[in-house]
Amino acid sequence: MNIDAKLKSILQAVMRAVDSEREKDAVHLFMQAVAHDPTLNQVDLPPVLTKVLGKSRTEFLIQAFAELPCMGCSRGIWLCDDCHGSGISGETSVCEKCTGLGAGNCGFCAGSGWITYNYMPPGLRPAVVLSRTRLVIAEARTLLELPLPEADLAGRATVRKKLVKQILAHNRLLGALGNAMEVVKRQSESTGAAKAMLEQVRAVGAKAVPRLEKRVRSLLGQLAVLAKLEADQATDVDEKKLAVRRAKYYATIMKSSDFKGTSLFHLHLKRPPKTVPRT
Ligand SMILES: [Zn+2]
Ligand SMILES: [Zn+2]
Repeated sequence: MNIDAKLKSILQAVMRAVDSEREKDAVHLFMQAVAHDPTLNQVDLPPVLTKVLGKSRTEFLIQAFAELPCMGCSRGIWLCDDCHGSGISGETSVCEKCTGLGAGNCGFCAGSGWITYNYMPPGLRPAVVLSRTRLVIAEARTLLELPLPEADLAGRATVRKKLVKQILAHNRLLGALGNAMEVVKRQSESTGAAKAMLEQVRAVGAKAVPRLEKRVRSLLGQLAVLAKLEADQATDVDEKKLAVRRAKYYATIMKSSDFKGTSLFHLHLKRPPKTVPRT
């Protein structure tokens, strides 16, 4: 890294921002350094930064990048603009855009609520993806410990709300892990410490994803049971129609292998197709 006078003054400003714990300023100033010296896009950054800024400032900067919020949403959640949050299309159909949940994952950050990896230099992504994955795993542990809300006709509005809230929360974490897996795939040529970090992310993600998806299936199953109970007791024709459709819809998608065609699908969580060697 060739430090000219301009780069030196930007890096000094980065250090001042870090020392006074101004996370956003530190990130934006560092991006100015990258714009001034694009070769920073081509190197494994943590060791370079450790030399220039010191170990603890480098760690602070990585954390600041990891926690920088997405500019398109609030904590990853997007309100469905087709059904305005009701989850119902017309009078008697499930809104398929949001899987009947009324909300879904933000299209910019896939629900993570964090700024996209494309924003940051490739050499910083392995460290940031590892830091974010640790946060996701901690949150997943808490979520998976919550009791499964059980379908109950008497308190149906509350139960549905709880089921939807939990599905969205699990799906948010799956979105964040999907983004992480995309980085792992895209930077598969990494070496040394970066490679080790990405391998750790891949291994931790491979364990967490099936557990989160299993829980999403159980939650969808309870939505199906609740709708079935509603259908059985409904006297109003439209109410019955909607409940029957909901029951059928959730019973079907809970069995899907990857939720393709619903707002619960994550492209990068899909296993790549096996390639058949040519003979
Ligand atoms: Zn909708
Ligand atoms: Zn977002």
